[in-house]
Amino acid sequence: MKDLKTLKAIVKDGKVTLDLPEFLDGTKLEIKIISTEKSLQEQISDQIKREPEEYYQPETIADTGTLIDNTVLFHQLKLINPLLEAIEEQGYNHPSPIQVQAIPLALEGRDILGTAQTGSGKTAAFALPIIQLLAANEPKGKPYPRALILSPTRELASQIGESIANYGVYTEIRHVTIYGGVSQRPQERELKKGKDVLVATPGRLLDLIDQGIINLDRIEIFVLDEADRMLDMGFIHDIRKVLKLIPNNCHTMLFSATMPKQILELANKMLVDPVRVSVDPPSSPVETIDSSVFFVEKSDKFNLLAHLLKTDNITKALVFMRTKHSANNTAKKLTRQNIIADSIHGNKSQNGRERALRGFKNGEIKVLVATDIAARGIDIDDITHVINYDMSNEAEIYVHRIGRTARAGKSGIAYNFCDEKERSYLVDVERLIQDHLIRPKKYPYVSKIPAPSLTELNPQRKTRSKKKKRRR
Ligand code: AMP
Repeated sequence: MKDLKTLKAIVKDGKVTLDLPEFLDGTKLEIKIISTEKSLQEQISDQIKREPEEYYQPETIADTGTLIDNTVLFHQLKLINPLLEAIEEQGYNHPSPIQVQAIPLALEGRDILGTAQTGSGKTAAFALPIIQLLAANEPKGKPYPRALILSPTRELASQIGESIANYGVYTEIRHVTIYGGVSQRPQERELKKGKDVLVATPGRLLDLIDQGIINLDRIEIFVLDEADRMLDMGFIHDIRKVLKLIPNNCHTMLFSATMPKQILELANKMLVDPVRVSVDPPSSPVETIDSSVFFVEKSDKFNLLAHLLKTDNITKALVFMRTKHSANNTAKKLTRQNIIADSIHGNKSQNGRERALRGFKNGEIKVLVATDIAARGIDIDDITHVINYDMSNEAEIYVHRIGRTARAGKSGIAYNFCDEKERSYLVDVERLIQDHLIRPKKYPYVSKIPAPSLTELNPQRKTRSKKKKRRR
């Protein structure tokens, strides 16, 4: 397989900057630019022509960020009427960039390697083509599983299941969602009725396969969703087992928020001649999210949180904490101060997690305190604030976290509490997103240690451009 690399085109203030240095090794590149905006495509193309090196790139798709592009309409993506009607009922006016890129390719039966996180609209990007492809070729008699979507968590699996039901409401396509932690009987009963699409977490799926209740022999389309998180959660062996059980010639799509080497290796094994689609570069969420940093020491963080929740115009806040224990405690302490809060983390029972999510979704709970693993799949549209009580120690996680607000093109607010020890994390985040977080002028519990000077945003890039000059 050819060496696939992503070439990032960063668009800011009408200017296109290409992130080329890593390709400056004399390799011949071939670049394909696919953009939803013609002018953008031309700009990028001009920019590339100005670069003296030649580049080889099998399929590069220009990054258009997560913002809904209001120049494209769903019917331009060649979707069938029953889907268009369902989309209209969902209130979507325009496809999101990942949908613009992935839907036509998936409908053509292409394998896809997608870089996209929750919030980008990626579920519809694979769910709509799956429904359309299956509906075009329905078997006579009782349906049997023809598509499998693997998801790392029960929450995400349930959300994907709901999406399939919503988008497929005017088709005959039926799905079942399979996950552990609950009785398998209702799932068995659903399976017996005959289903076209299986949405599953790996453990329970393999259990039911072992018991002879599920058979993957006739799977035609396979989606591995949130692949990086699957690996984080230790599912690699389960994934390998599933891969052995599905037919070799499956139409396969892999989506992941990040693309570390391990995922690319997995993709290499799973995908045949894939197209790479990509949205949500690390810098894009900040375009619609106002993100501020509060310099506050650890012992004052709770007081600052309670103060902001009482005085700011916060209607639905997701608070991130590093540990399960502190998530629990913080939710309890907030409730004692009459701020209705609950927590969600890996130690909670399935029922407890569902109750917390339901309450948060329907507005009974104002504040949901979460750990990263528990929160990443949360799909709630109207979160007004994401509060990073603990700064994330990986800059990419920061992007995932704040992506819980400003869903599908809306705007949102992120607050980051940064104590003295976390100041280096702030530097990492600001360098990743290539921007400075807002520093509010006045707030209580401000740290007595003077605020650090502004982060130098791009020290590496300076060195790179020097290197580039030397080469020429
Ligand atoms: P996802 O990234 O698949 O988790 O989707 C994030 C949220 O965006 C979900 O609540 C979807 O219902 C919503 N969504 C997906 N596509 C669109 C669209 N084209 N326009 C508006 N909202 C969308």
